[in-house]
Amino acid sequence: MIKENIDRINNEVGKNVLLVVVSKYRELEEVKRAYDTGHRDFAENRVQELLTKQEALPNDINWHIIGHLQTNKVKYIASFIDCIHSVDSLKLAKEINKQAEKNNRSIKVLLQVYIADEETKFGFDEAELIQLLKEGSLQALPHITICGLMGMATNTDNMEQVRSEFAHLKQLFNTLKADYFKDKADFKEISMGMSSDYRIAVEEGSTMVRVGSAVFN
Ligand SMILES: *Cc1c(COP(=O)(O)O)cnc(C)c1O
Repeated sequence: MIKENIDRINNEVGKNVLLVVVSKYRELEEVKRAYDTGHRDFAENRVQELLTKQEALPNDINWHIIGHLQTNKVKYIASFIDCIHSVDSLKLAKEINKQAEKNNRSIKVLLQVYIADEETKFGFDEAELIQLLKEGSLQALPHITICGLMGMATNTDNMEQVRSEFAHLKQLFNTLKADYFKDKADFKEISMGMSSDYRIAVEEGSTMVRVGSAVFN
């Protein structure tokens, strides 16, 4: 089942899009089964659960964190985390930079942008993000590598709305790339799309999809 799902999704998204399997709430054995298919990119949204799984599972997994991250928790994951998708403030970016330096490494991050029509989602609003990039505050942090943007569409059945939110994120990516990251080859990722909308996300330019239930159910 898990293997069939992973193969099918990989096929659907194509080889230029990274499938990040969201393992939150799943038992270790289920995650191990996904690992045994050869898959190596997994994501959690809580630090404690991430640490438990990271300790118990093989250490060639690329761990991603996708949920809102508190600054005081960065130190627990800084030694091994592959990519933090949920950078939503300068304060958090500075803390990741500091903890990465302590670990003599650089940490890949995505800037989470608020694109949904909902009250509850985290992320920079666009004007705020553009202001920070104008000032150069994020680019000045030498131990983070800014790899692109992350966004979550509104939780709705209206797929035209979802599509237009993804299209909007792609447009913003293009603008920011041209204005602030023209010479930065690392700035190339758009993390968008989950179980219910990854196909649309890929059509609109996603390079990383974060899929949980469609893999494990
Ligand atoms: C849980 C979660 C996902 C995966 O959701 P599914 O609907 O299970 O695919 C993707 N992104 C984020 C930020 C999540 O919290």
